[in-house]
Formats: sequence, C-alpha cells, structure tokens
Amino acid sequence: MLPTPLSAVEINGREFLIKRDDLIDPYLSGNKYRKLYSLIQTASHTLDRVISYGGTQSNAMLSIAKVCQDKGWEFHYYTKPLSKTQKAMPKGNYRYALELGMRHYEIEHPLYKEFIASLTIEEDSRTLIVHQGGAGSDAKKGIEKLAEEIRKQEVPGKALATPSGTGTTALFLAHSLPEYRIYTTPAVGDAEYLKEQMRALADIPSNLIILESDRKYAFGRPYRELWQIYSKLKEETGIEFDLLYAPLMWKMLLEQTDEEICYIHSGGVRGNESMIERYERMALRNQDSDFRVVL
Ligand SMILES: *Cc1c(COP(=O)(O)O)cnc(C)c1O
Repeated sequence: MLPTPLSAVEINGREFLIKRDDLIDPYLSGNKYRKLYSLIQTASHTLDRVISYGGTQSNAMLSIAKVCQDKGWEFHYYTKPLSKTQKAMPKGNYRYALELGMRHYEIEHPLYKEFIASLTIEEDSRTLIVHQGGAGSDAKKGIEKLAEEIRKQEVPGKALATPSGTGTTALFLAHSLPEYRIYTTPAVGDAEYLKEQMRALADIPSNLIILESDRKYAFGRPYRELWQIYSKLKEETGIEFDLLYAPLMWKMLLEQTDEEICYIHSGGVRGNESMIERYERMALRNQDSDFRVVL
C-alpha cells in the first residue's frame, strides 16, 4: 500500500499522526521496505544471491528473505550459533525466513567478527552483500521516497519521530527533510554508539535530535514498563507497534516532547511473536498478575 496513509490518534490526551508504513506488506514492512527499496527495484535476472548477517530474529532478515523469494534469488544468512531450543523448534521471524527459502549458517563466536568482515570478498557482479539491519548508503534512495511521500501529504507540524537501531532511517530522513525536526532514540546501545554508526554513513545534521532514556534497556530483553506502553498504544490507538523499538521511542516522546509529532511506524510487527513469548515467560517467572497480552 503506497503511499502509506496517515492515522490521527490520541495518546494520553495528546494528538499524534502515525504514518502507516506497517501496512506496506505483512513480510516486508516499515523501514525495512524503505531501506531495501533499491534491492526491491533490482531486476531479478541481474543477481543470483544475496548474503547478509545479524540476529536470528531480525526484521531485516525476514524482509530480505521475502525479497529473495519473490525474485528467485538464493538468500544466505550468517548468525552466531543458535541456542538448543531455537534449533529444536524454530520460531517467529527465523521460522518464517526459513519457510521463505533462507539458507542459514551458524558461525562460532570466536570466528564471527572476522568471518563477517571477510564476507565482502564474496561480493561479485551476481552476489550482493546487505549489511546487518540493511544499513548502508543503498538505503538512501528508499528513505528519500518516504520523504517525498511525507512532503506530498503535507504532514502538519514540524516534527517526525522514528526509533533507531543502526540509525540509517533517522539519519537519511533528517537529510531528506531539513524542514522537519527528526526525533529518534537508540534502541541498541547508547547515543554515542548511535552517533558513531550514523557518522560512518553521513554527517549528522542539526535537525536530527537524539532523545535518551536515563535508564538503560538491553535490546530484546523484556521490561514491564515497555510492555505497558505497547499495551497502552494498542488500546488507545488500535494500532499494534513492534516490541523492540517502538515502546522506547514512545516513552521518550511522551516524557520529553510536547509538540505536534508524526510517528513513522517502522513495521516489524511480525517479530512480536517471539517477543510476546519472552514477555509471557517473564510474567510466569514473576507470577505477574498485572500482565495481560492484549491481542
Ligand atoms: C530495523 C528497525 C528499526 C531500526 O532501523 P534503523 O534504520 O536500523 O535505525 C526500527 N524499528 C523497527 C520495527 C525495525 O525493524
């Protein structure tokens, strides 16, 4: 569905707009669709395989698997070793990606970094390497398309928000839309680490504002207050957000801003399946009766 629509919602009595990039495609949604735009536009006969690497429940992995299946390309994906339970019963994004034809390879911890660095040797005219999370200057074109849509839709207010992993989306959005403030927050590591990753891609423009939490949240780990935000968003807006990135971004926006903001939904909702299981296990461990799965 393109251009993606805008939903007007109220959260805590405050009005927000949501740019519904979650509605693009069930497997290929949000910023992964935007970041992989150039790959999606690539004619199928020009490549044989795509190689990537990263987490075993990564949203980027699932999105690349979907593109490769649609194009008839091989998809080789490298990760650190799986746990025994993951191996015995593949779940969530990992299972879906295998069903889409992904070939998965595990690399032992001590060798992982060096192995990943050496992958670039495999790149040739028919093999493309997509770096972890789809980070890289290839992502720029698709983010510019998103910026174009936002301009055409005349999104009111002067501020947009989107959470960061690698920071690719927020950075290129800030470059493409200098007339807006772009709020982001690091979901992986701290602000310094995020800036380091961004600087490897481009200069950080002054309209990009990094909001930081006082408390550290380890990526992918369940936290009660993040679950509460996820549930509240779902109840008040009827929209499901992803559990890895969105709750922290919303927490920052609600605590640290007061202006009119358009939140770019970054997709990833399919990945909630494995996160909801983690939350359920946490609730069982803590005998937490306040915990409710709002589905
Ligand atoms: C990948 C992802 C992000 C982070 O995007 P970056 O461009 O790496 O900063 C944010 N939200 C969701 C749901 C994602 O899947």
